[in-house]
Amino acid sequence: MLEIRDLHVSIGESGILNGVNLKIKRGEVHAIMGPNGSGKSTLANVIAGKPGYDVTHGDIIYEGQSILNYPPDQRALEGIFLAFQYPVELPGVRNRQFLKAATDALNKHNNQKELNAREFDKIYKETINQVGIDSELMKRSVNDGFSGGEKKRSEMLQLALLNPKFSILDETDSGLDIDALKLVAESFNRYRNPENSALLVTHYQRILDYITPDFIHVFMDGQIILDGGPELASELEAKGYKWLKDRAEQKVNKT
Ligand code: ADP
Ligand code: MG
Repeated sequence: MLEIRDLHVSIGESGILNGVNLKIKRGEVHAIMGPNGSGKSTLANVIAGKPGYDVTHGDIIYEGQSILNYPPDQRALEGIFLAFQYPVELPGVRNRQFLKAATDALNKHNNQKELNAREFDKIYKETINQVGIDSELMKRSVNDGFSGGEKKRSEMLQLALLNPKFSILDETDSGLDIDALKLVAESFNRYRNPENSALLVTHYQRILDYITPDFIHVFMDGQIILDGGPELASELEAKGYKWLKDRAEQKVNKT
């Protein structure tokens, strides 16, 4: 579904990603773990098409097509969804209107019938209940004055409603208490199916107690330095990232 080929990305003069290679097949969930500042959000943002990054080398292939030239809204229409590390507040934009507009755009793109207000409201309310969000909260503008945990739940409502083919969750676990974390994981697990794929970005192993990825990749200095299965999470939790850095440096010194 998604293939990242030798991706190099800079912001201004500084190289942030230094050759990322990653293949994600349909139905797979991959986790990227790595220390702060290693470039995880950069990777997530570049896949979603956020402006401000220079792709200096490499390619991103989605469903067989390079998407580097697609603007972010086109990528969203094609089924790529990013839950932000820091969700943006949209004062003045009502949640329902926002999600109705997004749903309409997707249905139109997929040649599906537009939902009328009643049809949409039924699904909207069901999904709010399912995700476990306070429906009073959803009467406010998108993320406007929401707490960290409320923003993350609002992102999960978007995920459940828009049902993207490929989703990226950027540290959706950070700043959540244990109950909110479980809610987010439950939402994700309900969404997960053999037809869609996901990339979970995290720097703690915690969320991986509730979501079992198929593969884990360790990210450091803008590169994947180790690939493994779900068991890698507890190893990282126990040993931290430093042993890997030391190991990587030893390798470099030997060559
Ligand atoms: P992570 O998500 O792994 O913590 P990021 O992708 O956010 O890492 O950041 C990777 C590196 O890129 C960091 O050194 C960070 O300071 C730098 N960086 C991120 N955004 C910008 C920016 N807008 N301008 C300059 N440097 C940036
Ligand atoms: Mg980040």
